[in-house]
Amino acid sequence: MKPEYVIIGGGVVGCAVAYGLLKNGHQVTVLDGGDSAHRASRGNFGLVWLSCKGLDAPHYAAWTRRSVSMWRELADELEQLTGDTINLEQNGGYDFHFSEAEMQARVTQYQYLRQALGTDHPFEVWDQARLRQEEPQIGPDVVGAIYGAEDGHVNPLKLLRAYTKAIKILGGKVITQANVEHIEQQADGRFCATLLDGSTVNSDKIVLAAGLGAAKLGPQLGLKASVKPQKGQVLITEKLPPVINRPSGIIRQVNEGGIQIGDSKEDAGLDDQDTMAVTAAIAERAIAVYPFLANTRLIRSWGALRIISPDGLPIYQQSSSHPGAYIVSCHSGITLAAAHSYLLPHWLENTADSPDLELFSEDRFELSEAR
Ligand SMILES: Cc1cc2nc3c(=O)[nH]c(=O)nc-3n(C[C@H](O)[C@H](O)[C@H](O)COP(=O)(O)OP(=O)(O)OC[C@H]3O[C@@H](n4cnc5c(N)ncnc54)[C@H](O)[C@@H]3O)c2cc1C
Repeated sequence: MKPEYVIIGGGVVGCAVAYGLLKNGHQVTVLDGGDSAHRASRGNFGLVWLSCKGLDAPHYAAWTRRSVSMWRELADELEQLTGDTINLEQNGGYDFHFSEAEMQARVTQYQYLRQALGTDHPFEVWDQARLRQEEPQIGPDVVGAIYGAEDGHVNPLKLLRAYTKAIKILGGKVITQANVEHIEQQADGRFCATLLDGSTVNSDKIVLAAGLGAAKLGPQLGLKASVKPQKGQVLITEKLPPVINRPSGIIRQVNEGGIQIGDSKEDAGLDDQDTMAVTAAIAERAIAVYPFLANTRLIRSWGALRIISPDGLPIYQQSSSHPGAYIVSCHSGITLAAAHSYLLPHWLENTADSPDLELFSEDRFELSEAR
């Protein structure tokens, strides 16, 4: 009999892991907190993105590329199983630049990464004329872009819904309004999670995928779970006919036609309110890229909190004091969904196919603290 898992957190990270474990024959229960919880999976930008990832951390770039390369399979599989579409497009994407010097500095970073990886890590440098062939609407302030052939985007809300549906189809349980307050490991090694309403759920193994909620629960399992919030704000315009061919880190046209604009980064604690100042700043930058946006109506804006580790990279760690308890946390949970579904179950079960995630362990923070 394979170990039975409880996953704490029903965001995209918890659901991706749950889905993978179910496919590998485990029994899985996902416990997800209340509506008032911070939920990055419902407020993000929807990029399935390789470019810029791990420019100074080659192991992270390689992990991201593995995930991106499996994303088509994941999308096809979820769509087939659930009958829902999730609108994955992987036709490349742009990193826009407004000055030659800034673009050259970035290219140097990409070259360094390629050298460190010793692979053909994909990027092309496009000047303004080349970019205009693909994106005729580009404004005169954009000097060019670094083009990433493996970049893409998806509808993140449809992804989350498809995952939840798929988990149920595969026989897993998703329990909502299930706020875990306390977790302990019993003498027999099994875990007991106690919910806010006093009820308990038991399992052989437990995965903490609670986003920002991990910071409170992690220490109960001997895990540091040092994650912090970082606010990002996103805008969406009225629906337009297709006008932008490919996404970038800051602008994309979603499948329904709206132009989605990001991507701000603010240290604002747990405050996820959008503000006019940030709306204005990111709208101005978007107009500099695509001047036609100046005449487009904004429909909505929102703020959401990223989950950031001390060095910004994912955390994959089994507790040394509570074997069978794990933390899985990252700030690009959409991009990494395929790796989480297809590879993490092997890491959790330590099979022969387990990816080497040693460099993503929490121990790295101890080392950097000691320096
Ligand atoms: C503005 C913005 C833009 C982003 N853009 C992208 C992007 O383009 N591409 C990309 O790959 N990533 C992007 N991200 C990051 C991505 O959204 C996150 O990495 C991902 O959503 C994290 O998922 P999660 O499941 O870890 O966390 P969450 O989605 O926050 O889910 C955590 C879940 O845990 C539950 N929980 C918490 N505490 C408890 C508890 N005690 N008991 C039970 N349940 C609990 C909560 O209810 C919640 O549902 C973006 C994030 C933001 C904020």
